[in-house]
Amino acid sequence: MPSAPHTLIRIAQIALDLPIPRLFDYLAPDLTTADIGCRVRVPFGRKYLIGIILQLDHNSTHAHDKLKPITAIYRDTPPLPAELLQLLRFCSQYYHYPLGATVLAALPTALRRAQSVHARTITTWQLNALGLAQCEARLPTRALVQRALFAVLRDGATHRAADLAASGKAYRSILRAWLTLGWVTQSSQPAPLNIQPATPDLAPNLTPAQRAAVTQVSARHGHFYAALLHGITGSGKTEVYLHLVTTALERGGQALLLVPEINLTPQLTAVFQARFPNLEIATLHSGMAEAERLTHWLAAAQGRARIVLGTRLAVFTPLPDLALIIVDEEHDSSFHQQDGLRYAARDVAVMRAQQRRIPVLLGSATPALETWHNAQTGRYALISLPQRAIADAQLPAIRLIDTRSNRPADGLSSQLLSAIEQRLERGQQSLVFINRRGYAPTLMCTECGWGAACTRCSARLVLHLRDQQLRCHHCGHVERIVHACPDCGNLDLKPGGFGTQRLEDTLTRRFSGARILRVDRDSTRAKNSWPAMQQAIRANEVDILVGTQLLAKGHDFPNLTLVGVINADNALYSTDFRASERLFAQLMQVGGRAGRASMAGEVLIQTEFPGHHLYQLLQRHDYAAFAASLLRERETSGFPPFVYQAVLRAEAPQIDTALAFLQRAKALAPTLPNVTLFDPTPATMQRKAGLERGLLLLQSANRQALQGLLTAWMPSLHALKSSAVRWHLDVDPLEI
Ligand code: ADP
Ligand code: ZN
Ligand code: ZN
Repeated sequence: MPSAPHTLIRIAQIALDLPIPRLFDYLAPDLTTADIGCRVRVPFGRKYLIGIILQLDHNSTHAHDKLKPITAIYRDTPPLPAELLQLLRFCSQYYHYPLGATVLAALPTALRRAQSVHARTITTWQLNALGLAQCEARLPTRALVQRALFAVLRDGATHRAADLAASGKAYRSILRAWLTLGWVTQSSQPAPLNIQPATPDLAPNLTPAQRAAVTQVSARHGHFYAALLHGITGSGKTEVYLHLVTTALERGGQALLLVPEINLTPQLTAVFQARFPNLEIATLHSGMAEAERLTHWLAAAQGRARIVLGTRLAVFTPLPDLALIIVDEEHDSSFHQQDGLRYAARDVAVMRAQQRRIPVLLGSATPALETWHNAQTGRYALISLPQRAIADAQLPAIRLIDTRSNRPADGLSSQLLSAIEQRLERGQQSLVFINRRGYAPTLMCTECGWGAACTRCSARLVLHLRDQQLRCHHCGHVERIVHACPDCGNLDLKPGGFGTQRLEDTLTRRFSGARILRVDRDSTRAKNSWPAMQQAIRANEVDILVGTQLLAKGHDFPNLTLVGVINADNALYSTDFRASERLFAQLMQVGGRAGRASMAGEVLIQTEFPGHHLYQLLQRHDYAAFAASLLRERETSGFPPFVYQAVLRAEAPQIDTALAFLQRAKALAPTLPNVTLFDPTPATMQRKAGLERGLLLLQSANRQALQGLLTAWMPSLHALKSSAVRWHLDVDPLEI
């Protein structure tokens, strides 16, 4: 008997956003494989959940009469393509995070909920052939609004409400009447993504190094090719990206550019919009309103937007014609998602490029050590831009101020103050960089040594003098300032250390006429305040900037010629083995803000360790030598990238509960000769937001071995009963 060509598929395996590492079976009459990737609504317990169909089957391990049917299938958005589902499967396996939760994490929030959120659309009206033939002759002489409306529509083109409204208040009802007569055609299009029309910008001639970079990458169009673009600050990496994107578009592809932070996106979007004035560019980041993000996501998924700029979450955007991925500032820690699916977008980008067989370019002046190592060992190609793109733009001179011999009075040494003074006289801008917001990192008793601490975290409370508050930067806990020591009653409490607000005060006292602007997470909290500040800086309405790393990244302030760095030494004391790597990158980056145009820049670093090799190599702008020294250290002491790590983290009201859980977990792990499981320990910051935290580190020189162990281990972890404990696994953790 011939088999039926279209057998009815009865069971759908559905991804749901649940902390359970399996799919869920539902009855699915009338579905075909074309429905894989579709959004559905299914009953779950007493609720309904949104899920994604991942597979169709004839059988279920559950009795069919126990299975419930899918209640709705949404066909208003395109199904997730098989290729993206495959990437998500891979991520689920690699990060050992439940597949359902992984798949749902990739969707814009609007699509994770049952209410329908609509993408933004624009309705247009057009006088059709019938209307053009009949309308004019039938217009009553005195019908002014109708005549005015006809005057606009008679060109036969599509018009938006905004164009038609001027005809008169009644235009809507007239349009309705004409619709009924069959004269006008109404249609709705997706809203255009880019609101502001940009002034077009022409590509400059590439420098030889830029040209070589573009040639090298575009030659690998249609092949997997991972390359590191190591370009010093100001070397013109953006221009390389723009040219590569152009090439990818010319060959019919879509390009995806990942950037670290939301505050970089408007600037970069403007650059891309100016270069590609006739293209729709999708931007994706978590700060967007839901409907807006959905609109952009759909434009990308439908292939309408050929260029996508976004933060880490954009790495999971469906892109039917994806031909190129670029990760700008690839070393940036914001590419790491720190909760839920803990992924590194840079690594996922490389996986995606490999899967799709396309080039991926990782750009940075200070690559992550892992990336640099991959480029040194030949896993990635290494492309260098060793010079600044603008001929006479020099790298800034970096000088070290020894604060042991020149004690700074109010945080700022006399050398730095006089350097700022000079800039003021010349009408140039200065930037004072400190990685601490608030007034001072702590409030202390001068008698007994008491320091204000967070009750919910193992951390000091930061003094915010302006708001008369003590704030925990880890859990958000806020207290009013105390005026007497709770331990000894002493009334003489002193701020300890410096934050942006305190330096702002020092500068205001010292340079009374100067226009000083503080830029940190507190001063930029209001929406659009940071873009407005950037405008003011570029318009020369600011003399001195005080700020945190927000100021370090990617900005081009042409009149800025001095950068002062305060309290960088803190990172040298850190227990985190990546602290000095981060510090070097940060200082290179913030230093790169000085003297970007033709004016020479200067960087002054206040330090107690002017002889430290980090500062010495920084002074020579020698990333390669610094990276080499770090790699030697890491190799000797057995740290990444020479080993691969995973951390099992547990938190509970009591530390003993968390540690006991980790101990039980450890006992359940299969033993493999080449994977080391360390003993459970309390986390460096043991208490956070009222919970005690412990960790168990796993390490291996062999990534497959580590992965093998984790895969074998996970089911028993999920089966561990642990009501008081919350746990998660962090693969390739950024911090331990
Ligand atoms: P990076 O991102 O590598 O720090 P940018 O892309 O911001 O560097 O470029 C630094 C400056 O050099 C910018 O002002 C840019 O317009 C300019 N620039 C880049 N490439 C060229 C070029 N080929 N010719 C002239 N100017 C260039
Ligand atoms: Zn005291
Ligand atoms: Zn706290």
